[in-house]
Amino acid sequence: MKRLIPLALLFATPASAELIGGCQFDRDTLTFAGSAVEQATCLLRKVELMGKKSPQPLPPVIKLLMEQGGAPTAEQKAAAIAAFPEPYRDYALGYQDMPASQTEAGVPLLYFVIHDTSEPFMGTEPFPHHLGNDPQVNSFDYYLAAEPVAHIFLNRQGQIWAAHDFSIPWRATKLESRVVGAPARGRFVHIETVQPRRFLPGATNRGQTYGPKPGFTDAQYRMLAALYVYASARAGRWLIPAFHATVDDGIPDAHDDPQNFDLKQFGKELEKLVSVDKAGA
Ligand SMILES: [Zn+2]
Repeated sequence: MKRLIPLALLFATPASAELIGGCQFDRDTLTFAGSAVEQATCLLRKVELMGKKSPQPLPPVIKLLMEQGGAPTAEQKAAAIAAFPEPYRDYALGYQDMPASQTEAGVPLLYFVIHDTSEPFMGTEPFPHHLGNDPQVNSFDYYLAAEPVAHIFLNRQGQIWAAHDFSIPWRATKLESRVVGAPARGRFVHIETVQPRRFLPGATNRGQTYGPKPGFTDAQYRMLAALYVYASARAGRWLIPAFHATVDDGIPDAHDDPQNFDLKQFGKELEKLVSVDKAGA
């Protein structure tokens, strides 16, 4: 006798078999494939025009932290907080002992995701000459919303606006919001780093844009490194750094940020904060 198998079962695959995107996110374990070094290597591939990704070496300090594991020391955490400008320094001090987010199932924070805001959008207008002190570029007004898209907004002067504390489970990628959904919330924290965009020549849609070169300022790299150490300290482990575009690699209509990100410079700033231990020893 022929048994009728419900269609839904025929097409259902075991959840554990499903790996999502170029860095192979497992929706059961909420983890990308491979060791921490392998994950960081995939998630920190260079994001180029139109979202093309190219391999690049991990800065030695990131490779070391991924290999050794563990968490920032009290000295490293203090150095990160001391690097912050006010008023965020006070805010960070106030929240420093509160554990970072976890998912609703209790899976702890693991990924530190770097974005560029792609705002303000200039269309066909040129980029302002002095991006670092342009009030329009550095205003946080674009990002004010009932539900701001990320945990942190970081402008080109290094000023920080905390829209959601790192203890709040939040989502800012398609992987979290469209593919895995609510169970992924809390596994990622998100940093929006201010960088304007304009149309590529002849482009008419927001999928065809480019950012300025250099992409970010020294102050932004310094603060990204400090935020990474601080968020890692609150998570109780060195988080795995990632880019928005690599997290969403392979998902339709994925964003292409951050553009023109200098991973070496991020590594150099991180190295300074990590080495306060040796300096103090
Ligand atoms: Zn993004």
